[in-house]
Amino acid sequence: MQFIDLKAQQNLIKDNIDTNIRQVLDHGQYIMGPEVGELEHRLAQYVGTGHSVDCSSGTDALLLALMAYGVGPGDAIFTTPFTFIATAEVISVLGATPVFVDIDSQTFNIDSEHLSRAVSAINKNDRSIYPLPLAHSPTSLTPKGIIAVDLFGLPADYDRINALAQDHGLFVIEDAAQSFGALYKGKPACSLSQIACTSFFPAKPLGCYGDGGMCFTDDDDLSEAVRYIRVHGKGTHKYDNARVGINGRLDTLQAAILLAKIDIFPEEIELRQKVAQCYNDLLSSSSGIRVPQSFNGKQSVWAQYSILAWDENHRSNLQQALKEQNIPTAIYYPKPLHLQTAFSYLGYEPGDFPVSENCAQRIFSIPMHPYLEIKDQEIIAKTISSS
Ligand SMILES: *Cc1c(COP(=O)(O)O)cnc(C)c1O
Repeated sequence: MQFIDLKAQQNLIKDNIDTNIRQVLDHGQYIMGPEVGELEHRLAQYVGTGHSVDCSSGTDALLLALMAYGVGPGDAIFTTPFTFIATAEVISVLGATPVFVDIDSQTFNIDSEHLSRAVSAINKNDRSIYPLPLAHSPTSLTPKGIIAVDLFGLPADYDRINALAQDHGLFVIEDAAQSFGALYKGKPACSLSQIACTSFFPAKPLGCYGDGGMCFTDDDDLSEAVRYIRVHGKGTHKYDNARVGINGRLDTLQAAILLAKIDIFPEEIELRQKVAQCYNDLLSSSSGIRVPQSFNGKQSVWAQYSILAWDENHRSNLQQALKEQNIPTAIYYPKPLHLQTAFSYLGYEPGDFPVSENCAQRIFSIPMHPYLEIKDQEIIAKTISSS
């Protein structure tokens, strides 16, 4: 059994993939070929934003967005410690400071009430209001923006996050690396804040065959800034560098592959809903585990189907039992970011974000992809229920 079955998908679209790749080899425009612009156009339409800029990865999409806002030393960027390291890493790379905010235990996404306390703690220079990085005096930090993450494909609480951001003059970046294809109150993920960043890493809901990503925004200036920064800060002329940028382009070949995948994507989203619903039905009576909740007005795209065991021991027992049946599992994420060595310089301590720490000990993900068969889901559920 596969954790994510990319081969089953490839078999369905093999002819289109081959044709699209062949076309790129024929025209030879490997950098910024016509497929790149076509992909931008199609995905902007899908998401409903005025602009989209593709780039080399989800990580670079986040970096480009932060650079477009001019983020640098002294800036506090609020985000969750229960995410892939890229979300916070890009903040540090620019010399700004990640300020972590604990998650909601039901959604695994940033808790907006905690977010409000973290902003107050910095503004009032008072660590008793909320845990802050020790490495910097709060007075040397200026609240600048928020990176909200749509973890496992479920959009964060944007009504509250955007309102809070507006009250405090902060920008909001949607880390939609896992949520392309999800919905929040009828609106597509990637359109839920000023700028959104997604990833086309192969295992994401819409993946290519290498690295890739995209930024989405309605803001003309932001879009233009991202576009320039993506190509070495290029101005109007190739060797006129208006600002410092990076080499963050998407390969034409990857765009060509994504164009073949987009055609079946809406169907795949429906299949993902069915697979998730089937898991919920099969697992709801298993005692001791918690399956993902459904939330009014939100539709996850199920990048992962993650469940909570009772405790760490129970989780290893379940994973072991599944492994004996050749069923792969994974842990996203075993260690919250504030406890990672890379962020030890921030001076956070165990106990600062108890919900994230508790979930990190209990969570694990089971196979999830559009082509998972019911008989396999039944074996998985039976193994979990009887362990
Ligand atoms: C995958 C991921 C990223 C980074 O995307 P890459 O394309 O791998 O660089 C960023 N944030 C989250 C939440 C992710 O899951």
